[in-house]
Amino acid sequence: MSHVAELIAVGTELLLGSIANTDGQFISRELSALGIAVYHHTVVGDNPARLRSAVELAKTRSDLIITTGGLGPTCDDLTKNVLSECFGKKLIYNAEAAARMEAYFRRSGREITPNNYQQAYLPEGCVPFQNDWGTAPGCGFVASDGVRVIMLPGPPSECRPMFLERAVPYLGDWTDGAIVSRTLHIFGKGESAVENLLRDRMNAMTNPTLAPYAKEGEMELRLTAKAQDDQAARALIAPAEAELRELLGDLIYGVDGDTLEGVCLRLLKEGGLTLSTAESCTGGLMAKRITDLSGASAAFKGGVVSYWSQVKHEVLGVPQDLLDRCGAVSEPVALAMARGVRGLTGSDLGVSVTGVAGPDPDDRGNPVGLVYVGLAWDGGDFVREVHAVGPRFRVRQSAASHGFDLIRRRLTGLPLF
Ligand code: ATP
Ligand code: MG
Repeated sequence: MSHVAELIAVGTELLLGSIANTDGQFISRELSALGIAVYHHTVVGDNPARLRSAVELAKTRSDLIITTGGLGPTCDDLTKNVLSECFGKKLIYNAEAAARMEAYFRRSGREITPNNYQQAYLPEGCVPFQNDWGTAPGCGFVASDGVRVIMLPGPPSECRPMFLERAVPYLGDWTDGAIVSRTLHIFGKGESAVENLLRDRMNAMTNPTLAPYAKEGEMELRLTAKAQDDQAARALIAPAEAELRELLGDLIYGVDGDTLEGVCLRLLKEGGLTLSTAESCTGGLMAKRITDLSGASAAFKGGVVSYWSQVKHEVLGVPQDLLDRCGAVSEPVALAMARGVRGLTGSDLGVSVTGVAGPDPDDRGNPVGLVYVGLAWDGGDFVREVHAVGPRFRVRQSAASHGFDLIRRRLTGLPLF
């Protein structure tokens, strides 16, 4: 049986144009990869009557309704109430959801207020979707007329993982079988060539499907298979993954929830090694990304944000004549920064970033996006010249990612380029 899905985004901000409906874009793309047709997107404000009429209309033409937003604790968060009403379901207090929410608030050091408990009320008979990325749980249920309803939180950082890790498995049984996805993370030189390599393959593949996504200057390849059960779906993915690994080799740095910095931290810990950072144009982004991970203190000693040449010289010990002769954005300065911070902190590895984040070229006429990333270790060092593209924030993200890529390659014995 073929299914038709409809997305309803709830939020006045969307209607005012304050934010774009990126949740809708994401879910649509994922649904099409799963072979589920999406015929309508609706956006409604935080208004119960208009949301109700949107749902009533959706019921008549779609058999899967996915809502985003309006699941939080404030009075404008009305999605659950309206949807439950439309489908004749009572909202029932879910003690487990309440306990999870309490634990989340405890962990994040925030105080829980009585209205937060609203979030623990879920439609009767639903499958609760545990939210490991925020507080408001989502849920899925089947209405008496067979329509499937899924409710997801609005913030994209919650909506996306909730869709992939909660809604997709939930839909597995609905689509007469299991849907399994596996994401391969790719970073490094040759990434753009990969796209060309994959284009034909992508169009030829149907089960599993292959979808590439650009993400934060990296690339992800998502394999999605449908089969009668989980095991059979995984069995479909395995040979396709093996083929991709053969093709892409060490450009693949991880799978599913892996990140470059996460892989680096794991490798550093496994080797009992320590790291320090010397950052110019990234302004501490590498340090931020690694300390976002719990347990970073086992391997990350610290970093220097050496934005001015004076700090590169006085704190990191970059020779003044090198700075004068070559300029701050140069290969020798990147090397001296990496060596400098390694010596300063007594770390096993020192990594450095110096470059032009833009929007204007530097005073020596170096172009926007030119970045040197250095790495120093016991008995050696290396510098990579990067030509990053895009606006300032992207150049900085990309520069930091190249830093992590150097660390990963060094620690796994791969060529550094
Ligand atoms: P919260 O618990 O954070 O209140 P919620 O499920 O109630 O989550 P909303 O209050 O509707 O969600 O939206 C929270 C934020 O999520 C919005 O301010 C907006 O930044 C983002 N957001 C909501 N809907 C979308 C959407 N469709 N696309 C992109 N971002 C969205
Ligand atoms: Mg809200």
